[in-house]
Amino acid sequence: MTLRTAVAQGAELLGKAGVAEARLTAELLLCHAVHCERVYLYAHPEQELREVEWIHYGRWLHERMQGKPLQYITKTQEFYGRAFAVSPDVLIPRAETELLVETVLARGKGAGRMVDVGTGSGAIAITLALETRARVVATDISTAAIAVARGNAARLGAAPRVEFVVGDLLAAVAAESQDAVVSNPPYVAEADKETLQSEVRDWEPARALFAGANGLDVYRRLVPEAWRVLKPGGLLAMELGFGQAEAVAELVSEWGHVEVAKDLAGIGRVLSCVKGLYPFRVQDSRGLEEVQSHGITASS
Ligand code: GLN
Repeated sequence: MTLRTAVAQGAELLGKAGVAEARLTAELLLCHAVHCERVYLYAHPEQELREVEWIHYGRWLHERMQGKPLQYITKTQEFYGRAFAVSPDVLIPRAETELLVETVLARGKGAGRMVDVGTGSGAIAITLALETRARVVATDISTAAIAVARGNAARLGAAPRVEFVVGDLLAAVAAESQDAVVSNPPYVAEADKETLQSEVRDWEPARALFAGANGLDVYRRLVPEAWRVLKPGGLLAMELGFGQAEAVAELVSEWGHVEVAKDLAGIGRVLSCVKGLYPFRVQDSRGLEEVQSHGITASS
């Protein structure tokens, strides 16, 4: 069996099973089995698969056909240009979440201390530690997730500047100690469970996804806790689920300088605001519409 034939057969199997992007997925699984880059498949189409490669490839095709997400098979996902290890203990980092990082980089310039709440794989905390000079605390309620995140920090050279804490939200963080609080919290409404992609619903950790009947439960607890740990003038930045911008903006009505950044799909994806009594207090005459026009637009 050659690489070319293996891709063709794998793509056909995946396609018949209704897997999206069947050919790309087959190529990526084959690369994982052969330990090569994708371009290698095109440079050496006549190369014969070794038996062990064929066995691995076959097993992984089967797993993907059963619905297991590609990233849990290859155990990796790229985020902000770096490869993060993932396991079913953590949410697979999403491209939209890069907008959260960009928001913090743009609005949190000079922040020396940041905390990432619900860090999962550590993608946000580690990226911020590597892209800035900040010291970052990363918390998660899941011990298993923190273990994944610690491994990523070590592999990516961020370990000295990220401190990992197992605990609920900001319980372990001292009052008025932080310049920025960042979070991609669980925000999916229980009511939307049935409409989620089965890959997400059946494979990703429920604790990282769901937040009560309308998806707002974690924001409700996080906002006052963030106020407690931030220094005056500190930044709070949170990822939003579809259609949640107004409800979350209401939760931060006491905060200053509220902005909602839209993702590439035009969805209000990141809300950020300042623990500020000055100078940017949002006036009540300014509606959310106008505030949104100050939002940043994703560029990648
Ligand atoms: N963005 C995830 C999804 O695709 C949800 C992540 C979250 O709840 N923070 O459903």
